[in-house]
Amino acid sequence: MSQLPSSLPHEGRPAPHAGAAVRPVIHLRADAGCSDAPVLKERGQREVFCGLTGIVWLHRKIQDAFFLVVGSRTCAHLIQSAAGVMIFAEPRFATAILDERDLAGLADANEELDKAVQRLLSRRPDIKTLFLVGSCPSEVIKLDLSRAAQRLSAQFLPKVRVLNYSGSGIETTFTQGEDACLASLVPILPVSDAKQLLVVGALPDVVEDQFARLLKQIGIDNVAFLPARHSHDMPVLGAGTQYLLAQPFLADKSAVMQGYLSSEPYAIEKAAGIKPKVFLLADEGFDTYSTTIDTRTELVEKNPDLVKRFVEASIIGWYNYLHGDNKAANALIKRDNPEMSDDLIANGIRLMKEYGIVDSGDSLTAGIGAMSDARMKSFFDKMVKAGVVKADLDYRKSYTLAFVNKGVGLNLKPKN
Ligand code: SF4
Repeated sequence: MSQLPSSLPHEGRPAPHAGAAVRPVIHLRADAGCSDAPVLKERGQREVFCGLTGIVWLHRKIQDAFFLVVGSRTCAHLIQSAAGVMIFAEPRFATAILDERDLAGLADANEELDKAVQRLLSRRPDIKTLFLVGSCPSEVIKLDLSRAAQRLSAQFLPKVRVLNYSGSGIETTFTQGEDACLASLVPILPVSDAKQLLVVGALPDVVEDQFARLLKQIGIDNVAFLPARHSHDMPVLGAGTQYLLAQPFLADKSAVMQGYLSSEPYAIEKAAGIKPKVFLLADEGFDTYSTTIDTRTELVEKNPDLVKRFVEASIIGWYNYLHGDNKAANALIKRDNPEMSDDLIANGIRLMKEYGIVDSGDSLTAGIGAMSDARMKSFFDKMVKAGVVKADLDYRKSYTLAFVNKGVGLNLKPKN
């Protein structure tokens, strides 16, 4: 197999006795209130369960929506026990279970998903919006639910709209699943610049009605709620909309997400108008290789020339893409992923060069794709320390340096 890279100070008080449980005292200033006090720990609902749990209240709120978790048996158990649905009820959530064959890439998970959706929609004509909900397993096997949603929407619209969002425990905790669900609705909301107040967050119907009544009493009339109770009744959105965020997750200051330097920070900046702080794992000592080329040992042994040509073509492709004419490649990227705009791609290339994501360190002399035994050992040692693999595993069998470190493509690099 070959892999390519890609205590608070006590403020003058006596020190506490060793071993005593100490609660730090934060002195509040009369002129600043508590806003200047340091945050010691943020806690709350975000610390429990994964984002799938949002389905429990979302399916009760949007009465003609169905939530199809694309996940494992664990996900099914979680939702079932969290929602506590009675056996004779017709629940509006289910789990399309990815089995061993899907996880091992032996079956086309998209095909299986399409069949599951077809069966579901023919049995349940009451469904008007179908959410495909991503889970840890679907993310690990990189099942592209956004494309699946587009494909299935094209098939079932206008009767049923298919949307997707991630509720996986890797990306979201608890109410963040609802956050993602509501965000998936935004692009399909009708646009209007009318003045209105939009209350965001799935409130129980009785609370929503009380809310509307109270707002009316204080003179706020044009009030809408997201999500609405029915798919055909979703609110409009536009320049005249003011927001009232009724759930804690939307004000989450401690949100952290994993992403690619070349993509997510820019997308967040554009969508939310804020510059997220970016922390590179590599800067924290995590020096493993990423975006590797993987194949079976058998192929490397039986057809090394094929592997060599594939690896070298990939290396040369990277040099041409970074330093040559990349129009054709960008056209293919945009065709396969319509979410990739010209500015997103240009920004990604700029950052890849600036941060040396593809070409830096060993690759400057040995060529893109450079790898070393030392870095492989460093990653293995970290994984052993973290308890992911056993120390007696022969990790050296998982990679080969036979096809890299040969300076392929260095001549394609601009000289300056
Ligand atoms: S999405 Fe992930 S964390 Fe949530 S139940 Fe499924 S496997 Fe567990």
